Amino acid sequence: MRDTPPHPSFVLSVEGLTVSFDGFKAVDDLSFYVEPNECRVIIGPNGAGKTTVLDLICGRTKATSGSVNFKGRELLSMREDQIVHAGVGRKFQTPSVYEDLTVFENLELSYPIGYTVFGALAFRRNETVKARIREIAETIFLDTLLDEKAAFLSHGQKQWLEIGMLLIQDPELLMLDEPVAGMSVAERKKTAELLNKIIGDRSVIVIEHDMGFVADIATRVTVLHQGKTLSEGSMDRVQNDPKVIEVYLGH
Ligand code: ADP
Repeated sequence: MRDTPPHPSFVLSVEGLTVSFDGFKAVDDLSFYVEPNECRVIIGPNGAGKTTVLDLICGRTKATSGSVNFKGRELLSMREDQIVHAGVGRKFQTPSVYEDLTVFENLELSYPIGYTVFGALAFRRNETVKARIREIAETIFLDTLLDEKAAFLSHGQKQWLEIGMLLIQDPELLMLDEPVAGMSVAERKKTAELLNKIIGDRSVIVIEHDMGFVADIATRVTVLHQGKTLSEGSMDRVQNDPKVIEVYLGH
């Protein structure tokens, strides 16, 4: 798998992506393309292969065949940590923050470090880093809670903190798996606001079930079914696609 020149309009080109588990194709010859500053939402019934697609892109699961080209680099031949360094951030469904540390410390720990430990530690506390932490904290609505231990945050606030921990690494592609699961209606609205704020600087892929939330954030929607694209396009287009209606409503 070789690097190819980046396609001028796409940040991410997924082509013919396939993975088989004991002969069962969880993702089956899937192709889709993500543009800069796009928010692509992947929807589909349980077991459609949505999480597996993100696992393949971030290197957690090895593909059987296909290509995932990110800004000209072939991700399928790279390790998970190399993919992170290439600029791909991934958030899993359950928030994973350091409960005993403050919001500030969680963000500080996630600040990208250099190669020498001492240099990196000295670097962390400088004014540039602090300013960046405050900026991110404001984006994720936690600027007044910088000294609060993460353990005392609500579920929604922990989800935002984890998004902040990815944002501080400045990924060009951010992938979020059901970011509003378990959130209140008010928190969902604020999460949509958060994503709309950050999309201007990067591309985002979101797996989501909540269609109201999808409508608030999606540039385009991909409907996945049995590891393949069932429908793709604007929210309106996919919602009115008879194939999608049949799969969701069973008629
Ligand atoms: P979704 O996120 O759309 O609910 P998943 O990507 O989690 O779907 O799973 C798609 C299918 O692949 C499911 O049938 C699931 O059981 C199967 N699958 C996912 N990961 C593995 C694995 N590591 N080994 C075997 N089967 C798997």
